[in-house]
Amino acid sequence: MAIKIRELCVMMLNSRHWLHAAALSTCAMFAAQLAHGAPVATVEVDARDAPRGIERVHLVMPVKPGNLTLLYPKWLPGEHAPVGPIGGLSGLKFSSAGKTLAWQRDAVDMYAFHLTIPANAASLEVSFEVLAEHDAREPNTTRLATDAVAIVLWNQVMLYPAGVQSDDLQVAARLRLPAGWSFGTALPKAATSGDAIEFAQVSLTTLIDSPVLAGRYFRTVELGGTPAVYLHLAADSTAALAIPDATTAQMRKLVQEATALFGATHYNEYHFLWSLSDQIDYEGIEHHQSSDNRSAERTLIDADLRRSSDAETLLPHEYTHSWNGKYRRPIGLATGNYDSPMRGELLWVYEGLTEYIGMVLSARSGLASAADARDNWADTAAWAQTLKGREWRPLADTAISGPIIYNQAPEWRARTRGADFYGESALLWLEADTLIRTKSGGAKSLDDFCKLFYGAPSTAPKVVPYDFNDVVKTLNGVLPYDWRGFWTERLNRTRAGAPLEGIKASGWHLSFDAEPSAEQKGVEAIQRKTSLQYSLGFDLKDDGAVIMNIVPGSPADIAGIAPGSHLIAVDGRRYSKEVLQDALNAGGTDARAIKLLIAKDDIFSTVELRYAGKLRYPRLERDASTPDLLSAIMAPQAP
Ligand SMILES: [Zn+2]
Repeated sequence: MAIKIRELCVMMLNSRHWLHAAALSTCAMFAAQLAHGAPVATVEVDARDAPRGIERVHLVMPVKPGNLTLLYPKWLPGEHAPVGPIGGLSGLKFSSAGKTLAWQRDAVDMYAFHLTIPANAASLEVSFEVLAEHDAREPNTTRLATDAVAIVLWNQVMLYPAGVQSDDLQVAARLRLPAGWSFGTALPKAATSGDAIEFAQVSLTTLIDSPVLAGRYFRTVELGGTPAVYLHLAADSTAALAIPDATTAQMRKLVQEATALFGATHYNEYHFLWSLSDQIDYEGIEHHQSSDNRSAERTLIDADLRRSSDAETLLPHEYTHSWNGKYRRPIGLATGNYDSPMRGELLWVYEGLTEYIGMVLSARSGLASAADARDNWADTAAWAQTLKGREWRPLADTAISGPIIYNQAPEWRARTRGADFYGESALLWLEADTLIRTKSGGAKSLDDFCKLFYGAPSTAPKVVPYDFNDVVKTLNGVLPYDWRGFWTERLNRTRAGAPLEGIKASGWHLSFDAEPSAEQKGVEAIQRKTSLQYSLGFDLKDDGAVIMNIVPGSPADIAGIAPGSHLIAVDGRRYSKEVLQDALNAGGTDARAIKLLIAKDDIFSTVELRYAGKLRYPRLERDASTPDLLSAIMAPQAP
């Protein structure tokens, strides 16, 4: 999963959650079949009403007489949390041998349903709806469809018998889409008849790992590669599909750079699914042979949006997960079903190294220019410095808390810490990479680790679990060093300072400039905010001038401003972006008072912030005393 590590996550900014849904018609289900002796379930999803927020599901599965417990997927791979969207499940009905069956939800596990299959019955029919809400939060169903785009997630439309591992249940799926819509997916197709798509029979693992992106305005671009890689775009307008040729070329280069880095692949085909809509929360979810990427509608056609790190690193990050997260998976996350609790203690590898490699591949592919890539590192370094929570909470604890941390109070994240195993781990992997490069005299790098840990031989999708010892052992295979001590210390310490040793060792240091870079303007545009994180100490949401993400120890924090307050006026003038910028940039290096009129709830007050200097945006500045390893790491490697 990709997450906005800095400031408020976009999910909170773009609170138009809603849901999607698909409706399943009463459809004739296909009969449960037997193939190779394995039980086969069939699922029909009618998504013709998805734009309205309804999917209708009809499921048929082979059963035996007696007690049966069916489970709704709860622990979702890539989400690392028990957030299966059960709140949207509605209209649940079971029948067998022509009779309606009574059911009872488990008193403890809300995702489990108990029923009794009558004597002589061989199959069970289940029908239900999946309903989406505009502003739902997990574990309710959030919006995944608009009038022109729908993302169909099979975990929302499946129940499976308790005690069954997802590799052991075969499913044949059938999908109806609104008339005239096109679709892309990694799920192999069997046939299309009328408006129904029939997919080949696959395991429940593969089905749930293979979402479908569908849309009224749709485009597929071949990206080359062996095996073949495809980019599918669905947008809320035809105009938004006009991907520039340069971006397509960079995407092709991404495939070349990733396969060169890992030296092997673990997919039969790979499909980037990229939805472009302002109505669906921006995020990314990884799968083995695809990724479900969700960005702003105009991401491809608005130069500012395209240059944000959010847009430049999203697809490289999710693609990297095909190797790191899907093929190699921490033992605690490789549960083989959707009901066993996951353990996130190695998320600093699963997400942290993916964050690092995603940043590297975004630069090597050209999706991010060298300057944009450096600005993204500067943002990460400066963000890490704001995390006062590091004084009480080791990085390891953020990973262990994976299942709850994505919903940690976003306003206070600098104090609580959040999913820091993304960005902070990326800084540590940079430190590890520079250490390998320096100690080996440039002969070795983290690229060698990637080849050993994730590379040859190429395989079809499969999971190879690993533990901490495997990571340490493979690092030692690249460069003999106390890697156990390196990671144990960094993961478990509680110290105030951000881990900027890797930035320093890569030949750069953090500084600040009064002007936002193109990349930073892009981030502000996509997240609809103004960043004053490193000056007054907060972000300002465009909509309503709401103060968010107050930095501990900053002028705003010292003045006692509460998050959620509205900024009304600056030094006696009605607030506008320009008025605020002028007030800051008018200052010299001497401390002065900046007066803000604030509305908190229904109370107005004027607060005085002591501040010296101008606006501040993070930059990396070259340190000539150290070789420029960062540029070497970010440089293209593929032939
Ligand atoms: Zn991720």
